[in-house]
Amino acid sequence: VVDHGQPEHSIVTTCAYCGVGCSFKTEMQGERVVRMVPYKDGGANEGHSCVKGRFAFGYATHKERILSPMIREKITDPWREVSWDEAIQYAADRFKATQAKYGKDSIGGITSSRTTNEEVYAVQRMIRAAFGNNNVDTCARVCHSPTGYGLKQTFGESAGTQDFKSVDHSDVILVVGANPTDAHPVFGSRMKKRLREGAKLIVVDPRRIDLVKSPHVTADYHLQLRPSTNVAVLNALSHVVVTEGLVDRSFINSRCDKEDFARWEKFISDVKHSPEATEELTGVPAAEVRAAAHLFATGGNGSIYYGLGVTEHSQGSTTVMAIANLAMATGNIGRDGVGVNPLRGQNNVQGSCDMGSFPHEFPGYRHVSDEATRHLFEKQWGVKLSGEPGLRIPNMFDSASSGTFKGLFVHGEDIVQSDPNTNHVTHAMESLDICVVQDLFLNETAAYAHVFLPGTSFLEKDGTFTNAERRVNRVRPVMREKQGMAEWEIVGRLATAMGYPMMYTSAAAIMDEISALTPTFQHISFKRLDEVGSIQWPCNDEAPDGTPIMHIEEFTRGKGRFMLTEFVPTSERSNRNFPLILTTGRILSQYNVGAQTRRTENVVWYDEDILEIHASDAEMRGIREGMMISLTSRMGGTTMRAKISDRVPPGVVHTTFHFPMNGANVITTENSDWATNCPEYKVTAVQVTPSNRP
Ligand code: SF4
Repeated sequence: VVDHGQPEHSIVTTCAYCGVGCSFKTEMQGERVVRMVPYKDGGANEGHSCVKGRFAFGYATHKERILSPMIREKITDPWREVSWDEAIQYAADRFKATQAKYGKDSIGGITSSRTTNEEVYAVQRMIRAAFGNNNVDTCARVCHSPTGYGLKQTFGESAGTQDFKSVDHSDVILVVGANPTDAHPVFGSRMKKRLREGAKLIVVDPRRIDLVKSPHVTADYHLQLRPSTNVAVLNALSHVVVTEGLVDRSFINSRCDKEDFARWEKFISDVKHSPEATEELTGVPAAEVRAAAHLFATGGNGSIYYGLGVTEHSQGSTTVMAIANLAMATGNIGRDGVGVNPLRGQNNVQGSCDMGSFPHEFPGYRHVSDEATRHLFEKQWGVKLSGEPGLRIPNMFDSASSGTFKGLFVHGEDIVQSDPNTNHVTHAMESLDICVVQDLFLNETAAYAHVFLPGTSFLEKDGTFTNAERRVNRVRPVMREKQGMAEWEIVGRLATAMGYPMMYTSAAAIMDEISALTPTFQHISFKRLDEVGSIQWPCNDEAPDGTPIMHIEEFTRGKGRFMLTEFVPTSERSNRNFPLILTTGRILSQYNVGAQTRRTENVVWYDEDILEIHASDAEMRGIREGMMISLTSRMGGTTMRAKISDRVPPGVVHTTFHFPMNGANVITTENSDWATNCPEYKVTAVQVTPSNRP
């Protein structure tokens, strides 16, 4: 760690990495960051932090940052630096020309889960009002869109039920498809503390994550299922609860829709859902499932935490609903220590969803076809809005490849590196007439752009992020925008240049508009946040101080709704040519596509993605530790280094997607969740062979 000297002043802001949303005191000398000190009054972290938030801020001043707008006619042309006015007018003219040639619905945009609520709100307004369609989607599409769908169906609200503190009161913690100590380190530490105090732990994961066995924590049960069988295991747990008299009848009678419950009880009681009937499919011994179900149902307060190992499957939404069913059946909703808790990946993935980034929903998760909501926004924005849902990201790629979608605005997301089946994505990008990228660096996606609008780092932003516990945190600028303009202003100018005046005066004014139009944000403002530190939505007349725990008296939808969660196998199967199953994930010191963490000197870091492979699979292929291997799937192939590991069982391999040169997403398939199109990153049939590359 570099000692940068004594600070002259400090400003409290929020980490720009994961969905924990830690607060930091940024110690400054003039406009230079001396150090980031975890803020003891931070609602989410209470003085704790991880290596990324504390040390990995150097990217904000990295020499590769682009500080001048750039344009080019063709993607093969060299970039040309221009003024803001010229770049914005050029982008607007090309978007308008594309619409004139191909129709109003031929363009759209993608919002970012790394930017502030106010910036996301501005982008979705620009698309709905200036582009004139609902072709807006968010990078949450590829991570937690099944959470939004599944929890809305069952509980009526597309968000986690608890605050982080709630885990301090859990007696049994069920972790499904999440790796909190790597991906949400500060919360992972809090969970470990509770486990050291005696709480029981059940882990459902194909991979042996740290929580299963680490120096201070050992899971009581590790249900090491085969990839893609989450629904079968969760149904088996619920089957035991129902058939062995472990249902919390008083909770069902008072809180849930009884007809839905009766239908579900009959469905889940079927012997085909029993641990014994599903043992061969899931690979989990029936006795372990039975014992884990008893522990969860009878062990006191039971909480469920889950991550992308749940959502990034062809049955992602079904899995979320199976989790909700289990929580309701055991009465584990509506008080401290229980609940259903999606661990959100990016710093503002909750916020980007809240702010109306989905093609079917306005801010606050209200459907675009709802006339009253539409009229509310039409009145505020002074424009007629479409009531037709627009394109999701995968639909945009498909439509671009087939020639009907021709213009794309990409805000702070590297879709070429992060989205699955890279070859399909790049073909779509090459088919666009106009692509505008607003970002910090010339990333993989910018290679397909005609206009580059430089963005701001979190150290330059004024606004808010919303973390995984629905906590709205202030993001305060500690330095001026290095490229000269706030991102919401760039977006406002672009909308205005397209003929729809959209000039805000400040980020605070945008939040005021959000509050006025979004019932869950009714009493949230910068002034209030500065007074109280942070607020968990809903914050309105019914809950003026915010809502740490949801669904206490009743569910947002009234009665809790049990959903029938039939297991349907994925179409991605292993065979002789592709006998192994690849899952992808993250490591502690890196963050998503690595755009930030690869550009900091202050973090302990790897410099490549590595393939974990079990010793038995490695031996039969002649693969040794550290050897370069070829990794191929039905989609394509890449190379990376092998690591012999017993974290993965025989038949399963694992890697990360942090490094563009390894290109893990060249391999991943186009399969996606049936309800939301969230990609099935967690299941790809692959072959691994020694590579000729040194
Ligand atoms: Fe940042 Fe997440 Fe680490 Fe907290 S846990 S410091 S929010 S990366």
